[in-house]
Amino acid sequence: MELNVCWMYHDIMDLYGDKGNMMVLKKRCLDRGIQIKIDTLSIKDECDLSTYDLLFLGGGADKEQKMLIDDLLSRKENIAKAMNENTFILLICGGYQLFGQYYISADNEKIEGLKFFDYYTETGSNGTRCIGNIAIECDLDGNKITAVGFENHGGQTRNVKTPLGHVLHGYGNSFEGKQEGFYNGQVLATYMHGPLLPKNPEITDFVIYKALKKRNPDITLQDLAPLDDTLEHQAKEYMLKRLSSK
Ligand code: GLN
Repeated sequence: MELNVCWMYHDIMDLYGDKGNMMVLKKRCLDRGIQIKIDTLSIKDECDLSTYDLLFLGGGADKEQKMLIDDLLSRKENIAKAMNENTFILLICGGYQLFGQYYISADNEKIEGLKFFDYYTETGSNGTRCIGNIAIECDLDGNKITAVGFENHGGQTRNVKTPLGHVLHGYGNSFEGKQEGFYNGQVLATYMHGPLLPKNPEITDFVIYKALKKRNPDITLQDLAPLDDTLEHQAKEYMLKRLSSK
């Protein structure tokens, strides 16, 4: 089996170790004999995104989001085609925000989003930001997972019809909502950096499985050979214990 990935704006959107997501995705594929090719995409690069099994877009500060938004919007039709053809999409923080209606940045500038989804993001009042470690409970197509990460965002994302999970510790989409991220079966978007995939091998495997499904429709999550996740589980247990004792 093989997996073709496009890492969008790798040179611009890479906050708090987001590139670790691609390293771990690669490692967990290679450990199982799954061939993986990770292409990168920068502003103005010519590329048909619909040919990929997985698109990945990391987080970025307002400045970076503004730098790439025109290029991203110019690819809207192509991203829609990718979605129609069952490409799976993983989005972190700043990338997550840009798939919604709009993002109002810290300096009160409105950045129009791709508008694929109903959610929108506005910056918190008085420049307040959601910062710190976060733990959530989520249900990925029936697989119940406790995920951990780190968040640092001013944006408050509201009107999320299908959140990724319920917040156990931290903030998530907004200060008040106790909801985190977005998941609709094909697009998994989250505020969790840290990075997400190394800290949560269950999510990595879920993403690999969903992306492989594009060209292998009969595959199940159980078809992925188990790997030794002892260290990752210990790290997660430790973090959850620390968060609960606060
Ligand atoms: N610039 C956005 C915000 O502050 C996204 C930040 C990020 O990707 N961590 O809300």
